[in-house]
Amino acid sequence: MCTVAIVGLGTIGSAVASLVARMPQISAVTLVDHDAYDESNLTTQAIDASALGRPKVKVQASIIQAINPKLEVKAIEEYIENVPLGLMRGSILVSCVDNRRARQSVNRISWRCGSSWIDAAIGTASLVRISVYTPSCEAPCLECGWDERSYELLEQEYPCNVGGDSVPATGAPAELGALAASLQIAELRKLVSDEYDGGSLVGAQLMFDTTTHEKHLGLFQRNEKCRFDHEIWEIEPVDLDPREHTLLDLFESTEASADPAVNLSIEEDSFATYLDCVACGRRSNIDLSLYGRLSVDARTCGCGGRMFATGFFSFESIRRDELSSSKLDTKLCSLGFRAGDVISVAHASGSVRHLEIGKRQIND
Ligand SMILES: [Zn+2]
Ligand SMILES: [Zn+2]
Repeated sequence: MCTVAIVGLGTIGSAVASLVARMPQISAVTLVDHDAYDESNLTTQAIDASALGRPKVKVQASIIQAINPKLEVKAIEEYIENVPLGLMRGSILVSCVDNRRARQSVNRISWRCGSSWIDAAIGTASLVRISVYTPSCEAPCLECGWDERSYELLEQEYPCNVGGDSVPATGAPAELGALAASLQIAELRKLVSDEYDGGSLVGAQLMFDTTTHEKHLGLFQRNEKCRFDHEIWEIEPVDLDPREHTLLDLFESTEASADPAVNLSIEEDSFATYLDCVACGRRSNIDLSLYGRLSVDARTCGCGGRMFATGFFSFESIRRDELSSSKLDTKLCSLGFRAGDVISVAHASGSVRHLEIGKRQIND
């Protein structure tokens, strides 16, 4: 039996969810989306009026469970960039997101966890695109196809870290979402079927245009200059509960307490001790925290401007020998760590271990 994570529950994802629920090979589904359905979604997404105002993950969880009550469903109301990596581990990722930044995150998660991902996108008013990636060092990834311009667009599309301004809805028609969803599920069925040995889209992209009826199949190449490192991580679970254990416990559990320069980090997030308002320039001091895990309130200035951790006050990792003993006694949850987080612990020798903290729980 297989586990699937559906990331993004909009025009494509809302159609994907009920198709996944009808696959007997799937035993568990994780749903990820930060958003709620609104009036404008009624004409483009697979929902009814009772969904309006409700979180997308909750709505789709009920739809899935009504189709197959035996399915284990986990709903994570969060930006994909902020979801603890461990919660995505072991799942084939069905990506139905509408922006480059989120797609880049899914690509990274896929490689780190060593799980395939199926991408879908609606290009123009009548075009759908489907690609499948299966991680290995030699296999092409999403970013292998990116150039300088793609990275520029990435910054413009979704500036300055996660959890911020949402990307405008594409407003693509519902039938394109359903078409992309169907093509994705056809590929998912191949990935989860033991007997299947026909053609698949791994390392390739299929495009179909409903106006011209043209189909295009392209192959991806592994790009030696790709900015992504293509590393598949060996992730070790450690029995540390972020609500009970401290930073010191975490350092001790690495069995490297003799190495004072040992440091830890979480990929795609950074630690902050000060925040600066982009609008009025006010600086405020905060307790050491993971920036991406701060609440929207904590990241909003009194003037309404957004607050960022910048320059000297934003750091990717924290070093044991630079922390006071009171800081080391801080509970992991107070710094923003959550169950399922994968923490990379790097030693002075250069060796790195990836530790997954907490017990894996449903709806945690
Ligand atoms: Zn690549
Ligand atoms: Zn301000």
